[in-house]
Amino acid sequence: MSPLQPQQLSPLVYRVTATNAGAMTGPGTNTYLVGREQLAVIDPGPDIAAHIDKILAQGAGRIRWVIVTHTHPDHSPGARQLIEQTGAEAIGSVMDKDDGHQDRTFSVSRNIGHGDLLRTGEFTLEAIHTPGHVSNHFCYLLRDENLLFAGDHMMQGTSVLVLPPSGDLGEYLESLTRLKRYQIDAIAPGHGELIRDPLREIDLRIRHRFYREGKVIAALEKLGESSLERLVPDVYDDVHPTLHKAAQYSLWAHLLKLEKEKIAIKTIEKHWLFGEEHWRLTDDYSKSVSR
Ligand SMILES: [Zn+2]
Repeated sequence: MSPLQPQQLSPLVYRVTATNAGAMTGPGTNTYLVGREQLAVIDPGPDIAAHIDKILAQGAGRIRWVIVTHTHPDHSPGARQLIEQTGAEAIGSVMDKDDGHQDRTFSVSRNIGHGDLLRTGEFTLEAIHTPGHVSNHFCYLLRDENLLFAGDHMMQGTSVLVLPPSGDLGEYLESLTRLKRYQIDAIAPGHGELIRDPLREIDLRIRHRFYREGKVIAALEKLGESSLERLVPDVYDDVHPTLHKAAQYSLWAHLLKLEKEKIAIKTIEKHWLFGEEHWRLTDDYSKSVSR
């Protein structure tokens, strides 16, 4: 079966993948349909007519809720069409201030909160606030199947982008750790295949961030005061150079975390976006390691 045809993943869940494959979207955005007679659509994806038609065909008059993990342009714009055509209720969290990456077409009557439940006669979804990728990111746990819809919080085998200023690496790591308190048997990410060993993957992702943080500190020790552009090839020497531009976001997120922890300091103020930003290790940190 073509991966672009709807696929049944479990008794309650179908997946429809949008045709927006790319460097940042992998094989395309995954849209999930949950339920039997009354459906919730999780992450309607981009507003691509063929994709919306596929969701509507699969949902066949049963779509009652349209839920978004977050409001990035590859996750929520499809909501408008779906809601217009079905009268479904929109559920999610909308950012007050635009951080420059938000889909402004998505709106809700009330922002969802951590622990909120959508209980239907057929299933229960629990909202779990998972800031990090962006501040208004929520995962949704399908309690009936211990399946977590993870949006851009996790992807199999690779790190997701943490997008400052609304994204925050410290919060991201806390959000990952928080997931370990839930009974989760599998993770359905916004991009890519199901993750069937969630705990192992969560630990891998946490370890990987600390490995990267070690490389950031090592590069600052080696190069001294440096721009992000100068640091990227050292910190991401294991990543293909075509991805180095995007990696600057992750590097920036690492540096902002290290700044909060008083390990690194910005020496030249930010220039849109981060072209002129220079960083070095703090004197206190350098003293503490040379002692
Ligand atoms: Zn995103």
